Amino acid sequence: MGAVSAAVEVTDLVYTYPGADEPVLRGVSLAVPAGTLCAVVGPNGAGKTTLCHAIRGFVPHFYKGELSGTVRVGGQDVAAADEDELARGIGYVFQNPFTQMSGITDTVFDELAFGLGNLGVPPTETRERVEEALVRAGLADLRDRHPFQLSGGQQQRVALAAVLIMEQPVLVIDEPTSQLDPRSTEDVFALVAAMKEAGRTVVLVEHKMSLVAEHADQVVVLDGGEVVLAGTPQEVFTDPRTAAHGTLLPEAVRLAGALRERGIDVPGAPLTVGALAA
Ligand code: ADP
Repeated sequence: MGAVSAAVEVTDLVYTYPGADEPVLRGVSLAVPAGTLCAVVGPNGAGKTTLCHAIRGFVPHFYKGELSGTVRVGGQDVAAADEDELARGIGYVFQNPFTQMSGITDTVFDELAFGLGNLGVPPTETRERVEEALVRAGLADLRDRHPFQLSGGQQQRVALAAVLIMEQPVLVIDEPTSQLDPRSTEDVFALVAAMKEAGRTVVLVEHKMSLVAEHADQVVVLDGGEVVLAGTPQEVFTDPRTAAHGTLLPEAVRLAGALRERGIDVPGAPLTVGALAA
């Protein structure tokens, strides 16, 4: 790193869940400069969510288990931070947005106001910030709905609006588009991109490689709890090893493979990255 230290710095992180024989993170290191977006990609079970939890400080705060190595956010060791500091410093969007709903509010509006109230933000300012977030997250029509009566995709928007509003400098966002249709996916990514443009640092788990290619400053490929490839989108997507990792293949290539597996022969379908370029 140069003179400016990274907003998120993970060093030699090894983590084993309680009772597990093998670590799920095996010496993970990464550095995310302030104001940039780092996409964490890789197959299911690679350890992406565990890494997100570690960055947020859920490991070792919420889980027991064996942990070595360090996570620094804004220069501070998260293992030494208390929950209040972590909540103020790091916004987190869970993979399952239902997890994120407080369970104690009756409307989307109140749900968004809840976090600000906890921070002691005065009611007038809270109202203004909630109103703005509702519009920006495309939730204005849902403001009076009960959070539990929303679809998964709508809850994902609420979860994202909640971090939009809290203004933490670092965001960890675990697969925000898993339950969204293509249109909502675009909208949600516009929101993530806007938060980055506003100077926030983003660590994002995302499977849709087109979105990663469009928005990431840095791509970290996790597999079996290890960083197997990392660099700019240019470096990662043109690395010959990318073709060997099915999950990293551009969507068109994966679609062609899926069609072929089902015996559907689409003439000219690109079965390799090379065929795409040809
Ligand atoms: P990813 O997000 O890449 O799919 P995860 O971090 O969710 O990967 O999981 C990595 C590995 O850790 C998996 O093998 C999973 O079964 C295991 N794991 C996840 N959460 C727990 C837990 N709470 N206790 C024990 N093992 C877990």
